[in-house]
Amino acid sequence: MCPTCAPISELMELPPPGPSLRLRTAVELTAAIKDQVEDTSFPGLDINGLPLMRNFITSLDNKFRDLHPERTELDWKNGTRRPVKSPAARRSAQGQLCGVEAPANQECTSCAEGKNNTFDHCRIVFTKEQAQWAWACANCVFVGAGHKCSFRPDRFLHVPSWVVTAVAERQPSSLMLSAHYPTMHSSANRMSLMRRNPILNVAPAGSNDADKENPPPPKRRKFQIGPANPGEGTVKDAPLKLKKGGLPSNPTWYKSPLEDPKVYGMEDKAYALDTYRDLADIIARATEDHARMKETMLEKGFLSEPDDQKPEEENVFAVE
Ligand SMILES: [Zn+2]
Ligand SMILES: [Zn+2]
Repeated sequence: MCPTCAPISELMELPPPGPSLRLRTAVELTAAIKDQVEDTSFPGLDINGLPLMRNFITSLDNKFRDLHPERTELDWKNGTRRPVKSPAARRSAQGQLCGVEAPANQECTSCAEGKNNTFDHCRIVFTKEQAQWAWACANCVFVGAGHKCSFRPDRFLHVPSWVVTAVAERQPSSLMLSAHYPTMHSSANRMSLMRRNPILNVAPAGSNDADKENPPPPKRRKFQIGPANPGEGTVKDAPLKLKKGGLPSNPTWYKSPLEDPKVYGMEDKAYALDTYRDLADIIARATEDHARMKETMLEKGFLSEPDDQKPEEENVFAVE
């Protein structure tokens, strides 16, 4: 049989379902609760190994209960289900179903070791665009070890960039992001403003936060410094000015994808989505580069003090 005659399902392997993309409707929630049959041998679970929705009763529970799962199965390690008794266990089990999964080899330390994990995958959870458990993964939280998860920026220095990027994308106003990744926080807020404000070239009501985090205007102009050879390229290679405003971009190091007709035309959804995700990767890499440069420049004495941290934050990270 020629390939074109084969059914589509045989030619295409569908990707595994990802994290929750939306909240459930009231009808969906009622149906989900009604359809669940309790597994009497596993407290807190239904016969499909999913947490029993009827046990979600507090307002915090409901934030998890209301997530619409794209995944239909929980990834119990070796297929072994565990009782879901405590509030943290039921929330992390539901969170695991709905969370953002670590890319290959970028799990938290505990999941990578694979000793204490209940689930096969390492996932962080967002409810209504709020990172839960101070960025700890659901696997660690399930066993009461969320405070030891290596994704927590308040306890560990090197949180993987995918975690930081995921938070910056979904919760750009995160206080933990601003405390531990101030540059990323500023970038995320600028991106967020661009996304939220596509039509009017006015600052939205929520822009105060971003203003607080962004460098003041005189500092910002540093971005306009031209290439190493003055007078060369600054005019000729100057990036297009976005008609809806936005920060100037430095043509020496950066060409904005928003100048690409395939992007600004917004006719190719897949291309736009890929570019959107690429931008998050670029932010992560730029943030990392900035942090590395800062560290070295502080060591060399090129900078006298961190230029984007408040004094009290310096104390947190100070090394004797
Ligand atoms: Zn993990
Ligand atoms: Zn973890």
